[in-house]
This record gives sequence, structure tokens and C-alpha cells, in this order.
Amino acid sequence: MRKQDSLFIAGAWVNACGAGCATVTNPGTEEVIGQVPLGDERDVERAVTAARQAFAGWAATPSSVRAGYIRALAEQLKARADEMASLITAELGMPVQWCRAVQVEGPIAGLEQYIHLAALMDEVHEVGNSLVLREPVGVCAFINPWNYPLHQLLGKLAPALAAGCTVVVKPSQETPLHAFLLAEMIEAIGLPAGVFNLVSGPGAKVGEALAKHPDVDMVSFTGSTDAGVRVAQAAAPSVKRVCLELGGKSPLLIGADADLAAAVRYGVQDVMINSGQTCTALTRMLLPASRYAEALELARAECESLRLGDPLDPQSFLGPMCSAAQRRTVREYIQIGRQEGARLLCGGAEAPSEFERGYYLKPTLFADVDNRMRIAQEEIFGPVLCLIPYADEAQAVQLANDSPFGLSSAVWAGSSERALSLARQLRAGQCFINGGAFNYLAPFGGYKQSGNGREWGEEGLAEFVEVKAIQL
Ligand code: NAP
Repeated sequence: MRKQDSLFIAGAWVNACGAGCATVTNPGTEEVIGQVPLGDERDVERAVTAARQAFAGWAATPSSVRAGYIRALAEQLKARADEMASLITAELGMPVQWCRAVQVEGPIAGLEQYIHLAALMDEVHEVGNSLVLREPVGVCAFINPWNYPLHQLLGKLAPALAAGCTVVVKPSQETPLHAFLLAEMIEAIGLPAGVFNLVSGPGAKVGEALAKHPDVDMVSFTGSTDAGVRVAQAAAPSVKRVCLELGGKSPLLIGADADLAAAVRYGVQDVMINSGQTCTALTRMLLPASRYAEALELARAECESLRLGDPLDPQSFLGPMCSAAQRRTVREYIQIGRQEGARLLCGGAEAPSEFERGYYLKPTLFADVDNRMRIAQEEIFGPVLCLIPYADEAQAVQLANDSPFGLSSAVWAGSSERALSLARQLRAGQCFINGGAFNYLAPFGGYKQSGNGREWGEEGLAEFVEVKAIQL
């Protein structure tokens, strides 16, 4: 049981002004494993004031010193990586075999690149009679989801620290514990007081107060498109910078000349990792009609081979869904899919019989999906994959782009040249070809209703930068 009874504000652990606490549940056992304070608007006020007071000093700190703090934080995270991974497995339900690599080690590598990128803040460009300088945007609010909690947090925090910004963090109520562990590490490295502040509490109260606050210069939000729109609306009157990282319904376009077995295996696994609770999940598999029947069999066999089980069992590929509410939503979508006329190939909405407790749901495949169905247009955020046939490549590209979202995409084709030419036609912030790996050095973000921000790499730093022109 991890009881957090205070917030981290101005370099100290302080009692929350807000009353009560939120409990954190292990989705595999349904047991309460922690609690965090329910902060409110007064806590936001204190945290923003602390961040404002710390801003001038932190912005003026040499970039090499700021880089030193980032290095120290990375060392702390490496030293306590097992603890962090166990905590995230406990609050999220992602199996241990993935959690350490995906939820902890990857994000640490992402963090470490800003040790070097911090020096970009010192670069000055001459344009005609002007000097163009980079300065930090100011006080930043981070509002985060629950599905890749440390990844989301470091994707914002690392570039913000490198740029010289100060921050107030609001984690999701579903998985807040990792943020408290990170705050302990921040305290241990002696980051100047007020540079990092942590306020837990409900989005509608704490998140909204941060988005509205006139002394917050930027809000970086990761979460659903609906909540992102509300954050942007709340932020608009103060004309602050708003970076949105939102939902997705990403396509995997499999060409007629592809290695079908490899492509289908990749696609099924991509969706089922983290029980489909991945913003970039390739939840629409576009398959050539000429090879559709063969692909369905491959997909079914792959799906049925993936082990659903206790997140602490190293053999488990999928664990439970993060919460009862999330499982309820996904079950409703499975019912909707059946009513829309899609064919259930495996899985389904019924709770798997082998578990007495936990928010488990079977990995589910729908065949004969029409891209206009709700299950193909709306983000389900669970272990549900739609298999959609196409007649020719032009139609495949049209179907891939026929979505309100544009977060990610993938192509599998007979050669990388052909895959690349298809990738160029897809309206999405990233495209994985023939199984290419996620790259923390490259920008990450969405087109269309998947958002307007870019995280990681140099573009991730640019989000936290103001540019100033000085005319000589
Ligand atoms: P969510 O319900 O939108 O919540 C995200 C965060 O926003 C939470 O901290 C939530 O607080 C807060 N929030 C909710 N309403 C708010 C409001 N009116 N004002 C300010 N803050 C508010 O999303 P989620 O269920 O946590 O996460 C899943 C979603 O995130 C999916 O749509 C997924 O695709 C998306 N996502 C996108 C990316 C990306 O990089 N594009 C990455 C990961 C996830 P509570 O604590 O009260 O919930």
C-alpha cells in the first residue's frame, strides 16, 4: 500500500488544501494499493505561484547545469527502475515482461537525449540585421493520461527542463503513483524548489484550473480528444500555448505483395500490447481482398496464441484493462460491432471464465468491418482489432485516411521502397514501415483530431521555446 498524503509544491511535501483522497486500485486483483490527495484550485494556485517564482532563476541557469539535473534524474530512474516498473504494473496492469522495457527503460532513453539537446537553447542565429534567440516559454502545466504514464510525463518534463521552463504536473487519477515516485527522485537530485510541482486530483477541477490559469504560459495535454477540446477552450481566454496529444484510430496497410504472416502477426501484437490501451494502436488492419481469407486465419491463430493473464506472470502478453470503467466501455463497443454487422472472429465481450477477479477482457478480432462503422471510426481503447478488406491500393490509401484521427499508421509491403511510397500518402504524424521500431529521437504527434503537438527529439524541445528577434 502506497499512501501519499501530501503534494510536492515549492520543493517540499505539503498537505493538500483539497479534502480527501483518491484510491488507486490494482486492476488485476481489484485491491486498493494506494491513495493520493485530492488537490483543488487552491493547490493549483500554490503550485503555479511556486513555478512562477522559480522561473526566472531556472531560465537563467546555464543549460549545462540544467543538463546535469536531467542526467541526475536519469541516474535516479535507472537505480530505481525495478521499483518504478513494479509500481506501473500494479497501477496499470501491464505485464511485467513489457513494463520495464516499454514503460521505464524506453522513457529513460528518451529523457537522456535532452542532456545533449539542452545546449540548443544557447544557439543564436543571425538573419539579416537580427539575432534570433531561444528562450523558455515559461510556466507549463502538464495534464496526463494513465496508459503510458511515465512515458507521457518524461516526454514533457525532459524538454521543459532542458528549455528552462518550470512545471506543474497533474497525473491521471487512475495511475498517479508513478508521478509521486518521480517527485521523490526530483527531491533527491536537489532540483531547485518550484521547478517541478505535483498536484493530484480530478481533471475537471485540477486540470481545468491549470488550463484556465492566467499565469500558466503553456498547457501540454495528453488524453482523449474530448477532454483535449475542453482544455483548449479553457485555455483560450488567456491565449496560452496549447499542445494537444490526443486519440487515434490508426491503420496498418498491408500490401498484396507483403509477407502476410509477418505483417499480420505484427499488427495483432501491436494492438494487443497493453491490452489495446495505446494511443498509436494499429486498430484498423487493411487487407487485400485477394488474400483476405488467408489473413483472417493468420490473425485468429496469432490472437489466440497471445496469453491473457496475471501481469506478474512473465508469460502473460496481455493483462487486465486498467479500470472497470474502461472495460465497460470496450464491452459496449464489442456489442456495437456485432449490432453493426461485423463478424466476431475471436474474443468477445464476456468476461473470461478463468479469472475470479480483475478487469480482464479477451483479445477480440472483428472481420468484415466496413470502415464507416463506429467500431472503425471511433477510438475503442481496448484489445479490439478491425480487419477491413480493400479492392486495390488506391482504395486502401483512401480507407486509411478516412478517419477523424491521424496519430499513427503503418505499412507492410514487399519492399521498403513500395512501403515508403505508400507511407508518404498517409495523413498521420508517423508511419512504421515493415515493422520499423519506435524512435525517441524522432518527433511524435498527430494530424487532424489526434492533436497539434510534437513530443520527443528536437521538435519536442521546440514546443517549450519562445523565439526572440533582436534587431541590430
Ligand atoms: P482523458 O480522460 O482525456 O484524461 C486525460 C487527463 O485529462 C487526465 O489526467 C484527466 O483527469 C484530465 N482531464 C479530464 N477532463 C479534463 C478537463 N475537463 N480539464 C482538464 N483536464 C481534464 O484520457 P485518458 O482516459 O486518461 O487516456 C486515454 C486517452 O489518451 C486516449 O484517447 C488515448 O488515445 C489518449 N492518449 C494519447 C496519446 C498521444 O500521445 N497522442 C498518448 C497516450 C494517450 P482524471 O484524472 O480526472 O481522469
